[in-house]
Amino acid sequence: MPTFNPVTPQDIDHLAAIVGEKYCIANDPEKLSPYGTDEISDKRNNHLPEVVLKPATTAEVSAILRHANQRCIPVTPRGAGTGLAGAAVPLYGGIVLSLERMNRIVEIDTENMVAVVEPGVITNEINLAAAEYGLLYAGYPMSLLSCFIGGNVATNAGGGKAVKYGVTGRYILGLEVVLPNGEIIHLGGKNLKDVVGYDLVHLMVGSEGTLGVFTRIILKLIPLPKAAMDLLVLFPTLQQTINAIPRVLTHSGVLPTTLEFMDRYAVQASARYLNEELPLQDAGGLLLVEVDGGSEAEIEGVYEAIGDLCMESGAIEVYVAPNATTQERIWALRRNIAEALMSISPIQTSEDVVVPISKIAALMDALYAIGERYDVLFPAYGHAGDGNVHVRIIKKPEMPLAQWDAIKHNLLTELFQAVAALGGTISGEHGIGYKKKEFVPLVLDRNVLALHRGIKAAFDPNGIMNPGKVIPDED
Ligand SMILES: Cc1cc2nc3c(=O)[nH]c(=O)nc-3n(C[C@H](O)[C@H](O)[C@H](O)COP(=O)(O)OP(=O)(O)OC[C@H]3O[C@@H](n4cnc5c(N)ncnc54)[C@H](O)[C@@H]3O)c2cc1C
Repeated sequence: MPTFNPVTPQDIDHLAAIVGEKYCIANDPEKLSPYGTDEISDKRNNHLPEVVLKPATTAEVSAILRHANQRCIPVTPRGAGTGLAGAAVPLYGGIVLSLERMNRIVEIDTENMVAVVEPGVITNEINLAAAEYGLLYAGYPMSLLSCFIGGNVATNAGGGKAVKYGVTGRYILGLEVVLPNGEIIHLGGKNLKDVVGYDLVHLMVGSEGTLGVFTRIILKLIPLPKAAMDLLVLFPTLQQTINAIPRVLTHSGVLPTTLEFMDRYAVQASARYLNEELPLQDAGGLLLVEVDGGSEAEIEGVYEAIGDLCMESGAIEVYVAPNATTQERIWALRRNIAEALMSISPIQTSEDVVVPISKIAALMDALYAIGERYDVLFPAYGHAGDGNVHVRIIKKPEMPLAQWDAIKHNLLTELFQAVAALGGTISGEHGIGYKKKEFVPLVLDRNVLALHRGIKAAFDPNGIMNPGKVIPDED
């Protein structure tokens, strides 16, 4: 890791002149502290930046990076700070570059079905703006009411509708990027196809702020489905819930938009948190299935077929949400699991491992065995339709913190080793940040890591962009 320079009073004067005094925070720990964390649960990992800058234009971002690069000051780009891997935490202090003021939807181009947006737009606002024109931006992270589109691109966010629509990267047609040396480059554009040169757009997607700063994003839109229907399917056991997943995917003849599973503990926690009365909330496992299409008539046969398949797979009950209010109640249950579990015990770790769909049952067996061995709570839920299982490992309230600290590393190592042995990987959407960096060699070999280091050095020879993230240190 390079040695960085501290931010001096002269640097602060220079940087404040770029963004304006009002948008430069320094020498004020209380105001700096919200920028030293993200939604990662263990706040002991927070780290204060020396200065927070809130640029309003690409030119300002460029001027900041040029100065930081010359002075060898680390820069951590920041979206809404909803990340779950510590990727936006400024490990080495320096500058946090908050994109919160670059929050304009520049254009909804209906003829080409694209949106041009700045990185600080809240993801759901893009959905709302596109819907006015009968269009859909199909990214749907569960945090869409608070996260920014720039953060979604930088983490290649997935979410609840990825079974049918895929993850953020599928919708990124073009990017304006400010490189660490302050140069501004334009990658891709409004073309739906483009094979000229290496695919640098998608090298940037998921780069977690380590290669450059996105200042403008061109998104592909698709026609907004006119009808959607949600099913909540209750099974006696989690095993039966999981066994139904490949059956629904291979026998229903369509890809559901959503195929989410939740175990008993996760559902009960969320229902309690929302003060929600659920029928049969003692079911061992639940599937949330959404189908959408061009009309009610088109989807009717589909959801009936899925319901029948679930009943044949041992479901106790299939509830069809009859209206938008009930659909929202069901989705709220799924979206609020994370907050509900945090309210039980804030000392926990949230992992989003992925295995091939056929291995979900084996993964669950491994998880529960590990959970019992270490005496921790292990509720599981996630995007069953793409094998992305969310595992919250929660310290029981009665376990001393020192004991949790002592077991956590071994526990995570065992979890990730089990995932790797099943042919899976250690993150499907939250990213690596600093949190999972040491485990990356379990799934990327030395040659692949050497390529990563080469790419990083080509973009950022001084190593100022979000240092300490994604790529493990060399041994
Ligand atoms: C309740 C809850 C539910 C969630 N559900 C999901 C889910 O379903 N799917 C999912 O994928 N994630 C989910 N997340 C995680 C998180 O919301 C996503 O990772 C999201 O994409 C982060 O966006 P952000 O704007 O908050 O980015 P931040 O947390 O601020 O930053 C994340 C990373 O992006 C980089 N970055 C941010 N903006 C830029 C930019 N303009 N240029 C370059 N780099 C940049 C940062 O440096 C950092 O490395 C959830 C989080 C919570 C709290």
